[in-house]
Amino acid sequence: MKYAVPVAPIYTLAIAGSDEAFPVNRVYCVGRNYAAHAREMGKDPEREAPFFFMKPACAVVQASETPIEIPYPPMTANFHHEIELVVTIGKGGKDIPLEQALTHVHGYAVGLDMTRRDLQLDARDKGRPWEFGKSFTQSAPIGPIHTAAKIGHPASATISLTVNGQHRQSSDITKLIWSVAESIAYLSRYETLEPGDVIMTGTPEGVGAVVAGDVMHGHIDGLTDIIVRVAK
Ligand code: MN
Repeated sequence: MKYAVPVAPIYTLAIAGSDEAFPVNRVYCVGRNYAAHAREMGKDPEREAPFFFMKPACAVVQASETPIEIPYPPMTANFHHEIELVVTIGKGGKDIPLEQALTHVHGYAVGLDMTRRDLQLDARDKGRPWEFGKSFTQSAPIGPIHTAAKIGHPASATISLTVNGQHRQSSDITKLIWSVAESIAYLSRYETLEPGDVIMTGTPEGVGAVVAGDVMHGHIDGLTDIIVRVAK
């Protein structure tokens, strides 16, 4: 095949303890999936149906315990961190039954759903799509994937984020309104999931702004921490 323009790169994530790479397909993000975060965003945390938005594959950037740097994105004055449990999909499927959902999981990682909050809230309040707030290059630093084959499916785990060593976010994945299995089952009714898909499961309370030079340190028990600096 001869292509008319250069072919877009394949974005990948490292897999802990493996020399294989995980090729990123689509990135789905669950909105408002912790009650205390829904409240801080001014929404009723009542358990309504989950909702999703997407990021492009070029949002994904490999993070790890070794600090990496991401740019401060253009057109925002309110660049927010959202620490999240990330799920990678190994086996595709549609209309996946709840009790089968975890068999579609390839692994888990620590990730950040970086958000241009001012653009997101402006779009939200105008009833417009969230793309400019959420879907931009290098907006999803994600750590190495720990495969379900090795670590199983974490039921409870502390999830936390510090900025410059100061506490910002802390919760437990048991507080997810929609569990990993429920999110997969629900999403697969709307779209056939494919290997390489990534699901960011939502952030707990405590989101806030970072500025140039800030260093974010994300943690989830049992997974590799990520350290991400915002470029000056
Ligand atoms: Mn999020």
